[in-house]
Amino acid sequence: MAIIEDHSKSPAPDHLVDPIAVAIRTREPRDPGRSGHFTTTDPRRGRDLAKSPLVTRLLKDRRLQFFLILPNQIIFWLVIVVGLVGTAVPGLNFATAITWYLWFCLVFVMMVGVGRAWCAMCPFGGFGEWLQRRSFFQRRHVSLGLGLKMPEKVAQYGFLLSVGSFLLLTWIEEYFNIAGPGNPMATSFMVLGIVGTATVFFLTFERRTFCRYVCPLSALIGSVGAMGAVAGFRTRDREVCQSCTTKDCMRGDADGYGCPWYTWPGSADSNATCGLCTECFKSCPSNNIGLYVQAPLTSVVAPTRRRADIAWAVALLFGLVLYQQLNALTLFSHLDSWLNSHTGFPQYPNPIDYLGVIGLVAVGLALLSRVFTSLFARPDFQPRPGGRAFVDRTSRFRSFFVPLMYAIIPVVGADYFARQLPKFLQHFPRVLVSVGHLVGAGSTSSGLYNASLMASNRGIIAVQVGVVVLGTLASVWTTWRIASRDLVPVSRAPRTTRVSAVVMTVGLGVLVSVLYVLMNAAD
Ligand code: SF4
Ligand code: SF4
Ligand code: SF4
Repeated sequence: MAIIEDHSKSPAPDHLVDPIAVAIRTREPRDPGRSGHFTTTDPRRGRDLAKSPLVTRLLKDRRLQFFLILPNQIIFWLVIVVGLVGTAVPGLNFATAITWYLWFCLVFVMMVGVGRAWCAMCPFGGFGEWLQRRSFFQRRHVSLGLGLKMPEKVAQYGFLLSVGSFLLLTWIEEYFNIAGPGNPMATSFMVLGIVGTATVFFLTFERRTFCRYVCPLSALIGSVGAMGAVAGFRTRDREVCQSCTTKDCMRGDADGYGCPWYTWPGSADSNATCGLCTECFKSCPSNNIGLYVQAPLTSVVAPTRRRADIAWAVALLFGLVLYQQLNALTLFSHLDSWLNSHTGFPQYPNPIDYLGVIGLVAVGLALLSRVFTSLFARPDFQPRPGGRAFVDRTSRFRSFFVPLMYAIIPVVGADYFARQLPKFLQHFPRVLVSVGHLVGAGSTSSGLYNASLMASNRGIIAVQVGVVVLGTLASVWTTWRIASRDLVPVSRAPRTTRVSAVVMTVGLGVLVSVLYVLMNAAD
């Protein structure tokens, strides 16, 4: 394994600025050093927490992220070991109980509340990064591994790679009934597989290439996390960045690493790719970085440079959670069995209906956007002042599809959260029993093992539908705001466009709610 120099003072390659944004032809500056490339809008960033001297001291401390990651690192290695050598009873085994009755639910709470909070403390990325940096928290100038860049041809797909790995992991999880939960060893192998893959990527590619492009959770956290109240680390004054010659936030300096997520804080207008690692805060020589909190949903509504890969990620992720809802229905399980018997596939889930439903939902949403385009697009609209009018179908379609997919993020996020609730509400007490079992105290006959936070199916359905209703209301608000800002200028019937977009959002919320009623609290 090579030890490579950290060329922290060499010019920042274009690749680091934001290859995805360049690839999808947004107005992201290719070279942050060239002035005059900022968009004129500077989205509201909210309140800067780092103005407090106490918070500043904390964020400047190089040990901060290490101490956030350490407890989770210990728990996850415990999960791996206990899953392999502990009891085979899933509800009693610490590995399965904490992973499927608590962790997955908690990650959703964190992403809806804070955005990439989990990424700041994630053991998968943390372990690979410690190895790559050859350090737990000190700033070192040589790193371990090959330090390759993700080829631009691959990087241009942005979050779609992460969606692909999430779909693959979910299919494997369903096939082996890992989250059922089934055999605890399967949970260990799954966690080991993620840690192992992450480590290989960290030692092959530079920085957090794995997190930015490949991690199965990254697209979900990056898109649904836009609902969160943390805007992330952003520049305080963009004028200062325009005249900054060092760009230490991207290249790194003696105090901090260059942004591991390839995010330039000077141009960020959402929290999608800020892993809250604090490195830019440490390295900016002009003290021009703040940690901003904002009103929830701001990062859904505010971005001026919307990304097509995020829009497709939302559509595909919605397809996945709808598939999971559908497959809890008896009718659908018959379809899966029928497909298996005709294709010779051994068991659920048949890849044809798995990918078919996900693809159908994404294509259905795209077709819906196509209908919007046909009905409402202004043929003479110029996407940019002085630019060409809509001349091709793709740009017309994108002008409706991308904003509409951002608008439904809250209902998709609510759907994912509601999907996790039955396991949490029915079985959370088992987490406590499994902890006791580690020290020889818990058993399947204990009252706590058979207790639940909510036993009745009706109660669980009510909570699930309540969550979806809240998500739908939030989506109605984001749809109205996004339609007013992004769709009205491109529409020849602004009022009808806005109302139709809201009707679409409400329709999706109703569909999801009806499915939860039909699922009868199935987990
Ligand atoms: S992107 Fe994935 S691996 Fe990276 S920090 Fe976030 S959850 Fe962890
Ligand atoms: S954040 Fe700091 S280091 Fe980065 S461009 Fe702005 S002033 Fe320069
Ligand atoms: S360096 Fe700054 S912008 Fe980049 S991920 Fe870390 S906190 Fe976010």
